Amino acid sequence: MAEGLLIEGRTGDWEMVIGLEVHAQVISKAKLFSGASTRFGAAPNSQVSLVDAAMPGMLPVINAYCVEQAVRAGLALKSRINLFSVFDRKNYFYPDLPAGYQISQYSQPIVGEGDIVLDLEGGATRTVGITRLHLEQDAGKSLHDRGPAATHVDLNRSGIALMEIVSEPDLRSAEEAGAYMRKLRSILRYIGACDGNMEEGSLRCDANVSVRRPGEAYGTRCEIKNLNSVRFVMRAIDYEARRQIEVIEDGGTVALETRLFDSEAGVTRAMRSKEEAHDYRYFPDPDLLPLVLDQAWVDEIKAALPELPDDKKARFIGDYGLSAYDAGVLVAEKDVADYYETAAQGRDAKLAANWVTSELFGALNKAGLDIAHAPVSAAALGGLIGLIADGAISGRMAKDVFAEMFETGKEAAAIVEAKGLRQVSDEGAIEAVVDRVIAENPAQAEQCRAGNQKLAGWFVGQVMRATQGKANPKLVNEILRIKLSG
Ligand code: ADP
Ligand code: MG
Repeated sequence: MAEGLLIEGRTGDWEMVIGLEVHAQVISKAKLFSGASTRFGAAPNSQVSLVDAAMPGMLPVINAYCVEQAVRAGLALKSRINLFSVFDRKNYFYPDLPAGYQISQYSQPIVGEGDIVLDLEGGATRTVGITRLHLEQDAGKSLHDRGPAATHVDLNRSGIALMEIVSEPDLRSAEEAGAYMRKLRSILRYIGACDGNMEEGSLRCDANVSVRRPGEAYGTRCEIKNLNSVRFVMRAIDYEARRQIEVIEDGGTVALETRLFDSEAGVTRAMRSKEEAHDYRYFPDPDLLPLVLDQAWVDEIKAALPELPDDKKARFIGDYGLSAYDAGVLVAEKDVADYYETAAQGRDAKLAANWVTSELFGALNKAGLDIAHAPVSAAALGGLIGLIADGAISGRMAKDVFAEMFETGKEAAAIVEAKGLRQVSDEGAIEAVVDRVIAENPAQAEQCRAGNQKLAGWFVGQVMRATQGKANPKLVNEILRIKLSG
């Protein structure tokens, strides 16, 4: 284990142990056991079937598309697909759960053990175990802000399919937990199984955290519920680990409990202890048969999977000569990877990677746009990169041209022509200007030949000024060096 991951306590070093349980909303037009719509933002209780409202006598019918999505996610997470799985009832009372139980999977989930590769700082990677992925229903939503005297319930979310994805306790820092969330989100978005929108609640995380002395057995964990941004996951874990270290160093013991993160205060608070934990009385749902899958169908889904982030990253490193870091940044979002490949087509691939990750990302960030709404198309950026590679414009000028492309949506070549920016790379023309500038400044030329380095730079400036900045600076430097050598 890397030294850098240890936390220094008052009485020595500590190690964090983290396992994440992530709820990912399945992309599907209909719910897991009913035909009601899953559209986000609809008027309250406008997308509720009799099944979702748990009317007596209603029977659930499994949505095959949601099953396919779970299988796709399992395969993308390099996990075992269980051809036989079972739906159980998880019993508890809550006003937003009309049936009094949630249909979930418990001892026999649809997906078993697998792997996920984390992309860490500096291009390093680490493989973390996936324990399982199971399908379950979401609950409705209690609304406490619709009136002073009552709580209202919106059942639109009731019955929407969720995938719960559980990791092994393999993560060792908040950074690794953040990398896990980002990678999981990236994979689910690539395959179209979940939109990964944490603000809308499509992806939510419960973080299990414990601490131990390096090399010792796992300590008692606390579970922090319902974290809805990667930043909150990381902050909550850091706070919680430090809290537990303090408790133990003060001679106390960590209690097995469920906690909530207060993002305003930056602290976790006890919600319920394990003694108060629900007894869910799981049992197989008598209204549903076990789910039996056909291996040939699973194989078909596997064959139809798109290229996944890890494979794309390896290809970008191999085919384009990119660093692991740049490749990792470019493949995280499929839209970005596609944009990059179009821009780099037939161009200097490393130069294209630099332009996408620095200038383009910077401009998009500043404008608050995502890549799908970039005012500069991938082909147009490719055109600009072509002009730089040909020596038609300098890298410095290209930044101004890019800014104008971003603002106006015009092509690079059109801007360069209209403004007469085309760089002069004609050696004869540059030599003529150099000769003239030297002739006009004989005293400075003399000192320069005598070894005054400062004046050499001054001459470059004079030539660039005389050409309105259009002379190819590399050629200017070369020609001046020859003409002013002692
Ligand atoms: P439960 O069913 O009570 O939620 P699980 O054994 O299924 O418990 O574990 C849930 C999560 O807790 C998993 O992500 C697992 O990796 C993590 N976990 C288990 N033990 C520890 C521990 N000692 N420290 C941190 N995380 C843990
Ligand atoms: Mg749990």
